[in-house]
Amino acid sequence: MSTRKESIQQHFQAFLTSQGHRITGQRLAILEAILSEEKHFTADTLLDKARALDDSISRATIYRTLPLLIEADLIREVDVGKDYKYYMLHDAGQSFQAQVICSDCDKIFEMDAPFMEWYGRTVAERLKLKVASQRLQVTASCPEWEKTGICPHTRS
Ligand SMILES: [Zn+2]
Repeated sequence: MSTRKESIQQHFQAFLTSQGHRITGQRLAILEAILSEEKHFTADTLLDKARALDDSISRATIYRTLPLLIEADLIREVDVGKDYKYYMLHDAGQSFQAQVICSDCDKIFEMDAPFMEWYGRTVAERLKLKVASQRLQVTASCPEWEKTGICPHTRS
């Protein structure tokens, strides 16, 4: 019986081999660091975690490996309009995710939005086009923060 972690590792190794990339200790350590991330992470936080596992990993190694992981469909990029990107583990078969961003504490919530997938496909088909990518982001302010100065969800 293989765990989710093992199946992700196997998937990555099979992907690397099939694309003619070498399976390196650095690449596996980066994936290992990602597997310990529960939420969104940046290239910088990933660098710190990966270096704790393998100190030969540089920023350049991270930036070369992230596109491979995206291509392997193991992570996805979350662009919320900042000067850096967030990344997140992506489960196979996961439905479309919309982001709701709290403008008071910058927390990003990932919400299932399968209807968005349907919507994108439907309107594109009507134009005889094929969907390449789509995103939905909602920025919202917190009424609780306005009253108390504390965002109730920052602790979770
Ligand atoms: Zn907030």
